[in-house]
Formats: sequence, structure tokens, C-alpha cells
Amino acid sequence: MSDSIKYLLSEDRIPKTWYNVVADLPAPPPPGLHPGTGQPLGPDDLAPIFPMALIGQEVTTDKEVEIPGPVRDIYRQWRPSPLFRARRLEQVLDTPAKIYYKYEGVSPAGSHKPNTAVAQAFYNKEAGIKKLSTETGAGQWGSSLAFAGALFGIEVKVYMVKVSFNQKPYRRALMQTYGATCVASPSMETASGRAILEQDPNSPGSLGIAISEAVEVAATSADTNYALGSVLNHVLLHQTVIGQEALEQLDMAGDYPDIVIGCAGGGSNFAGLAFPFVGKKVREGLKTQIIAVEPAACPTLTRGVYAYDFGDTAHLTPLVKMHTLGASFMPPGFHAGGLRYHGMAPLVSHLKELGLIDARAVHQTACFEAGVKFARAEGIVPAPESTHAVRVAVDEALKCKEEGVSRTILFNLSGHGHFDMAAYDDYFAGKLEDRDYDEAALKASLAELPQIAAE
Ligand SMILES: *Cc1c(COP(=O)(O)O)cnc(C)c1O
Repeated sequence: MSDSIKYLLSEDRIPKTWYNVVADLPAPPPPGLHPGTGQPLGPDDLAPIFPMALIGQEVTTDKEVEIPGPVRDIYRQWRPSPLFRARRLEQVLDTPAKIYYKYEGVSPAGSHKPNTAVAQAFYNKEAGIKKLSTETGAGQWGSSLAFAGALFGIEVKVYMVKVSFNQKPYRRALMQTYGATCVASPSMETASGRAILEQDPNSPGSLGIAISEAVEVAATSADTNYALGSVLNHVLLHQTVIGQEALEQLDMAGDYPDIVIGCAGGGSNFAGLAFPFVGKKVREGLKTQIIAVEPAACPTLTRGVYAYDFGDTAHLTPLVKMHTLGASFMPPGFHAGGLRYHGMAPLVSHLKELGLIDARAVHQTACFEAGVKFARAEGIVPAPESTHAVRVAVDEALKCKEEGVSRTILFNLSGHGHFDMAAYDDYFAGKLEDRDYDEAALKASLAELPQIAAE
């Protein structure tokens, strides 16, 4: 038997529909609210920045949403993504646990994000949109949307968090290669960016600020829409191809997970893998443990409050009920840029409140340690974000060893780390610090949460 068994489905087993977890939940998630009136959002409120097809997906309660043919045709390039049994890692850990991972790094941009970028570009093209504006943290989302824009002939403008813009020149170059324009955020191009720079000319930027800039541009020009790479219901919906494939692949392997793990920044790759398993858990009364892993420096699910908040710093986005550290919270710099967001997907937050999923926070050096162990056993260098999932998978496997029980663990390897080797360099040089967020700053930021009468 080979060391790693790759469970492959044939191309025509790519799911034909996306799975909507809302249909299986005992209670629907609270609605998004208009930032001005505090009233539940209507489709017209979102129409200036999103195409109607995506607005429909944002609020649908249908269990299945058809994947358009042209989107499935593009998925074919890398989907179904492989599911691996990490036999060599199991040996290194000397664990009775079985560890499986779904590998999303096989997409052209190197992560799960093209699963939604392609869908979003498709619907915007159908709606006659010429240009998409967006934000990016580490650059994964920006390069994914740039890739999708290139395929559909849509111009892409990316506001990239300044600290990452400076740290990750190759992601920027990748976006340019796909034909997108990328500027450091906060920028002088938008009112939101200028307001931040006036207060702090050296602002390192944040996802919240970059979102404000991108939304502002989309809201003020008719041929431009906005695209978000995580958090929103339609984004999570598109990612469910991951979990649906994993269910089928595990079935081929004659297995079912006791534990399902994903790293969570805005929550999309976690949701993509986990939601189909959450659905089965609800429908069949299973005990599957489902764990979202977040950075200890930005612990939204484990330390945030569940409240209505803005998605961005300038308060341009709708109010959504989610676990949040407050829209003005500035997480300390750490290497998993894709996990540096103050909020969490409302649907993931809702599941946490319903007790259907758990959350865990981990420090970055422990994550890199697990990431290096994984790379040396399995050959794939995980993205810094993905090392959070690896860490908890390793912890759970070691717990199995301690307890002398075998469990089946499934985690999402959301992307490869080929553009993040500077972070690994820092790890090897002993330069990574496990910084905690500032408790006083968190308190101050939470004190600024909007007061919502409806709550
Ligand atoms: C963006 C990103 C994440 C975090 O985003 P989610 O929406 O929480 O999935 C995780 N892993 C990788 C590789 C990413 O690029």
C-alpha cells in the first residue's frame, strides 16, 4: 500500500449544486440590517454593489442551488480536489487516529478562494458588469478574483492591506500577471482611505479598511460591483463543493469523520468543508465534532461577542449579526494575514450559537511547528492560515494516542504556502512572536459596537 492514498472522483462527479445549510437548521440566522435605518435589508439595498443572482443566493432557503454550467466547466480544471489519507503524518505522530485532508491548494491561485471567485465573476458578467473592486489581506483573494476576472473579461481592482502589500510582493505580481490592478490600502484614492491616512499616515491597514475602500468604489460607479472573498452567505455557499466532494471521497474510502476541522478567518473554507457535515449531523443526529480554528491574536469566535456589527471600518457595509471583536479592532500583525479579520461569517457564528460547531484559538508558532511537521511528512507546505487547521488535527491525533482510541479526523488544507515562504523563514530564524491582542483595545473597540433596537 502506498504511503498516501489519493481519493479521486471522476470529473463528472463535481457537484451539480451548492449546498445551503440554512435549509437544515432548526432556526434561521438573524437577517442583515440596513446601516442607516436598522431595518432588515431588502434586495434593493444591495443592488448597487452585487448582481441580483448573488443577492438571491444571500437570502435563499433552498437546500440546493444549481451550479451554472460555465462555472462547473472552469471548476473542472482543478475539481474534484484530492482527498488524501495522511499516512506518513500518522506514522510520525505514532497515532491510532486516521487523518484525512482535503487539499484546496490545487487551484490555479493556490487556495479554495477560486471556488467562489469564478462563480462571482460569472454572475457579474451575466449582469453586464465591467469592473469588480475588492480587498485582499495576504493576497489570496485578490489573486483568485484576478484569475476569475481574466477568464470572464472583467477588470479587477484590488485594495491590498498595506502591511501585506509590502510583505508579499509576489502575490501582488501574481495579480498583475492576471491583469488586475493592486494598490496598497489605506490609499489616497478613496474618501475612506484618505480619512484613515489623515488620522494615521503610517496605518498598516486592515481588512476592515480595505473593504471600506472597495465598497466605496463599487457604490459610486454604475459599471463596477464589489466582490467579497469570505463572510457572506453566498460565498460560503459556493465553497460547499469542498465538503460535498469530501463526503463522497470518504465514502469511497469506507470512512466517516468523528472530527472535522478548518481554519477560520471570515469562515469560508471552514464552512465549505464543514457545512455538508453539519447538515448530516442535524438530519441524522450524529455526534461529529466540528472545529473552527482561529488565531489567538484575532480570536473572533472564542473571545468576540455575538452582536450586530459592521463588516468594515468606515461603516459602509450592512450590519450583520456575528461574532466580532468590533469593526475598529486592529489585530496585531501576524503571518496568517487571511485570518486577520475582526468579524466572522454570520452563518458560522449562528452555528456556534446553536452549539453545532466548536471553536479553538491557537498561537502562530505552534501552528508553524505543525505546518513544518506536516510538510516533512506529506510534502505539501501549508499556507500559514492552513497551519491552524493542521495544528488542531495534530493535537487531536495526539489526544487519540494518549487516550488509546482511534478516531477519524478530517481537515481542510485550504491552500499551499509557496508565496508565504518569508513567514517560514521568520519561523526558522526564531523571529515569530506569539503576540496576544491588546485587552484594552478590544474593550474599547467593543464599546463602539452599534446599538441595535431590535436585539
Ligand atoms: C483566505 C484564506 C483563508 C481564510 O479565509 P476563510 O474565509 O476563513 O476561509 C484560509 N486559508 C487560506 C489558504 C486562505 O487563502
